[in-house]
Amino acid sequence: MSKEIIKFNNVCKTYVTMEGETEALRNINLSIREGEFIAILGPSGCGKTTILSLLAGLISPTSGSITIWNKEVKSTSQNVGYMLQHDYLLNWRTIKQNIMLGLEILKQNTKENRDYALELLNEMNLLPFQNYYAHQLSGGMRQRVALVRTLAIKPYILLLDEPFSALDYTTRLRLEDLVSETLRKRNKTAILVTHDIAEAISMADRIIIMATSPGRIKREIEVPPPLRDPLPFSSRKVPEFQKYFQLIWREMNENENESIQK
Ligand code: ADP
Ligand code: MG
Repeated sequence: MSKEIIKFNNVCKTYVTMEGETEALRNINLSIREGEFIAILGPSGCGKTTILSLLAGLISPTSGSITIWNKEVKSTSQNVGYMLQHDYLLNWRTIKQNIMLGLEILKQNTKENRDYALELLNEMNLLPFQNYYAHQLSGGMRQRVALVRTLAIKPYILLLDEPFSALDYTTRLRLEDLVSETLRKRNKTAILVTHDIAEAISMADRIIIMATSPGRIKREIEVPPPLRDPLPFSSRKVPEFQKYFQLIWREMNENENESIQK
């Protein structure tokens, strides 16, 4: 059993604005092991992005704590890479210039690190496009570039906030395999936020199902080895896949009309 890398200890988050208070997360307890791939599933507004932003050190909890390797998260760090639905590539820069951006900002633009970024670009089948400008690429290609840029700074933990949701179905399936393969090869710990049950089952080792108002963990489901071991596309064809899909579907639809007293 590998070591624990991330821990949420009774984390609560309430946003306070002019309009009032929103209890985004209540009593989140979660422990994640090194190399584990977690998917977070839940309705809109249940606090999925809040969980990632807390882990990234972009916001602080109202109470409770988040630790990475037993150290409390207090600010952003190079250990955590964050990839969003929108790719935020700079259109006036070439692909190569885009993937080196993080290294430049961190002043780690060494030959070794640049070579590593190009190696990742090659794995994403994009090396021939390195001198293209970002605006010349399709959505799927852009997300692959964004992933390379995120991985180029060698984070141990990767946060993926619905990174495939704007892509067409075929591109999405291809990217799921490519991303899984790349992260497994490097034993990255990943947390994927998604609305897509099939994507969660096919990509993750464990699925966290959340409920809303207030955002909380409703259930955790371990994905069994026959579904976990193959790459996502093959995993979708394993007989157990449908069973897990039904189970999670029921669990999520129970959430629909349910809300606990605040
Ligand atoms: P999800 O990603 O699951 O859709 P979020 O984490 O974005 O959910 O939001 C959880 C709740 O907190 C929602 O009710 C949302 O409106 C609220 N919220 C998120 N960010 C802020 C913010 N910066 N200020 C005030 N309320 C926020
Ligand atoms: Mg969100």
